[in-house]
Order: sequence, then C-alpha cells, then structure tokens
Amino acid sequence: MDLRISPEGIKFRDELRAWLDENLERPYTEELLDPKNDEDSLVEVRRNFQRKLNDAGYLGMGWPAEWGGRGATAVEEAILRAELAIADAPQSPNSLGIGLCGPALIHHGTEEQRQRFLPAMLSCDEIWCQGFSEPGAGSDLAGIRTRAEPDGDDFRIHGQKVWTTLGPWSDWIFVLARTDMEDRYGGITFFLMPIDQDGVEMRPLKQISGESEFGEVFFDNALAKREHIVGKLGEGWRIAMTVLGFERGGSTLLPSAEYGRQIDCLVSALRESGDIERSDVREKVGALIVENEVMRAGGLRTLASVAQDLPPGPESSIDKIFWSEFHQRLTDTAIELMGPLGQLEVTSPGARKDMDWMYEYLWSRAGTIYSGSSEIQRNIIAKRVLQMPTK
Ligand SMILES: Cc1cc2nc3c(=O)[nH]c(=O)nc-3n(C[C@H](O)[C@H](O)[C@H](O)COP(=O)(O)OP(=O)(O)OC[C@H]3O[C@@H](n4cnc5c(N)ncnc54)[C@H](O)[C@@H]3O)c2cc1C
Repeated sequence: MDLRISPEGIKFRDELRAWLDENLERPYTEELLDPKNDEDSLVEVRRNFQRKLNDAGYLGMGWPAEWGGRGATAVEEAILRAELAIADAPQSPNSLGIGLCGPALIHHGTEEQRQRFLPAMLSCDEIWCQGFSEPGAGSDLAGIRTRAEPDGDDFRIHGQKVWTTLGPWSDWIFVLARTDMEDRYGGITFFLMPIDQDGVEMRPLKQISGESEFGEVFFDNALAKREHIVGKLGEGWRIAMTVLGFERGGSTLLPSAEYGRQIDCLVSALRESGDIERSDVREKVGALIVENEVMRAGGLRTLASVAQDLPPGPESSIDKIFWSEFHQRLTDTAIELMGPLGQLEVTSPGARKDMDWMYEYLWSRAGTIYSGSSEIQRNIIAKRVLQMPTK
C-alpha cells in the first residue's frame, strides 16, 4: 500500500498553503484569546472565514459541482482539513450542516429542498444544528421519544433534544422525530425545521470550559412542514445512518495535524523554560511525538483504502479511539509538564498566547463521548473487527 501523497495532492496542498498565507488574517487561537471577542463575535469570525473558503471553492469539497461543491477526492478533502488545522484556521460554524444535512439533501432530498437550502448552507447565511440526541437517547439513538403528530398536511413536534452543538446560533435544525411510537427503526422521520418559531425554545447549556456552545431544545407543538421532510415518512433512521456513515476519509489526517501543532506549542514552551533539557521531560514529549506519528500513519492507511474506493470499514473505530484518547494523554502530559503556566488564565500577565492548555484539557474530555463513545467503539471492534461472540 502506497502511503505517499501523490504529486497532484502536493500541488493542491501548495496552492492551499499560498491561499492561507494570503487570506488567513490571524490564527484562531489569537481570536479566542483576544479579550475583545465574546462567543457571538467568535461565531462571526468563523462565519466570515467560512465565506472566504466558500468563495475560493474550498468548502463542501466532496459535494457535486452543481451544488456549489468541487467533487473533490477524499485525499484533497483530507489535505484541506489537515492544512486548516496546521494553520490554526477558524472552524466552520456550519460543519453539521455541511457534513451531515447537506449530504442528506444531496442523496435523499427533493430538488426544491436542495435549491432552497444548500446555497445558504455554504455561504453560511443559515447555520444548521443537529437534533438527534435526547436526554434518554444518545448511544441508543433509536430510543428517541420526540414525536411528530399529523396536523392537516403538516406535523406538530413535541419533545426535547440535547447537546445541540451551535444550537444557540443556528437558524435551522435537522430533527429525528417519531411518526410511529411502536416501530423502533421504521417509525422515525427526518425533518428540517426553522428554530425561530412559536413552540421551539433553545436554551444554551453552560459547559465546563465556560462556553455555552451547546443548547437544549424544547419542542411544544412546533410546526414541521411536510415539504421539509427528507426522504419519505419512516425513512429517517436509514437516512441518518447513511449520512452518519458518509465519512469518506476526509478527516483521517486532521487529528495528527492538529495535535502536531499542539505538541509544537508544548515543545516551544518547554524550550523557553529550559525544561526540555531534562531527560524525564524529553522522554514524555518523545512518547507524544511517536504516538502522533503512529496516528498519522494510521490515518494515511485509512486514506489509502478510501483512495482505492474501499470503504474505511469498522477499523475507523480504532482511529476514533486512538485520536480521542491520545488527545487526553497529550493534554494531561502538557498540563503536568507546563506546571503552573499550564493552568494560568490566558488573559493573566505572563500567560502563553499560543495555546490555552486548560481549555484544551477540558475540551479533550468530550472527544471520547461524541461521534460514538469509546465504549461503543470498543463494542464495534469486538463484534465486527475481532468477531467476538456477543449476547
Ligand atoms: C462535544 C459534544 C457535541 C455533541 N453534539 C451533538 C449534536 O450537535 N447533536 C446531537 O444530537 N448530539 C450531540 N452530542 C451528543 C452525543 O451524540 C452523545 O453524547 C453520545 O451519543 C452519547 O450519548 P449520551 O450522552 O446520552 O450517553 P449515554 O448513551 O447515556 O452513555 C452513558 C455512558 O454509558 C456508556 N454506554 C452506553 N451504551 C453502552 C453500551 N451498549 N455498551 C457499553 N457502554 C455503553 C457510554 O459509553 C457512556 O459512557 C454531542 C456530544 C458531545 C460530547
């Protein structure tokens, strides 16, 4: 298996680097640490950068050209995401729309739905959030209880969603709701709903990091129009699963690129303090660098399979466990090695301005929960990779 990036991939990467040099005004960490910025203005920073990416043709890379995408290969997509991470570029505030809802519309939506929603998704004029998880249904997503009751031609939604990323800034939400309370999988329908309407209440949730990027959403007789159902009634589970599984390998190089940047920041702080000269410190940093290289090689292997049109398969669960648990090991080690400096509020005098280690440490706790928790990934590996007997 050839793990090298092709000459076309290198050309694409170099063009992108030149574009980033010209168009990325400040690394996102500087925006994040700028006391002038609050959560609202940070979302605007992200929105503005998404617009620049879109204008330059670097958004919705895998979408077909007729819908504003580029029909790009998974390798180009993986290079794009890795380079954005290395450059510390602002992340799109519409990643759930572009990564999940957009592909759902492209594959299962009507022509009217695509025309109405896709352009505003890419231009970030409308931000989307994902209404799947509920207080009693996360890992067991098919256990959702939010229900859709017929009301003339349309539906009325009753229930609650939670952990809704970017909900407080979103204009639209894609929702899984029950149109049949008895049929576990065949009773779920995929709805598109505006958030600004009677019967929808979005409450921000305060996180351990101090932000309120999540919301919980309460639906009390909220209107969901029939024309905004994606697919047919009762097809929601199938659509959600195909879309959730529609990762074409575009994020395979992202974790090692992002954590490589974080390790560089750690090394530079340890050089400045002189601690890098200590053998115990070098041993710990060396172990992080080696693990990150192993992860990069794993990402390249998955990407090489995808480039040959082989599906990533359940082995992608191994990648998920590796990057999410490695990030916790990395931030644990960084906090330990940085000493008090690693715990200083970044606005304090003397604090480092390249990295907020405490923020990263707290955020890394979430990685082993979202997109399938570590326990769920281990169940998948046991069953589908190791073929172990299950009850
Ligand atoms: C940062 C972040 C962003 C998120 N964004 C969104 C979003 O935008 N939209 C959305 O809909 N959801 C979102 N989620 C929710 C996410 O999908 C759920 O948190 C996740 O599916 C786990 O569900 P849960 O929190 O209900 O935990 P539970 O499913 O209740 O699990 C609790 C614990 O039990 C373990 N467990 C559960 N079932 C099993 C099993 N069968 N075998 C072994 N162990 C098991 C789990 O691993 C976990 O440790 C987000 C979550 C996070 C952390």
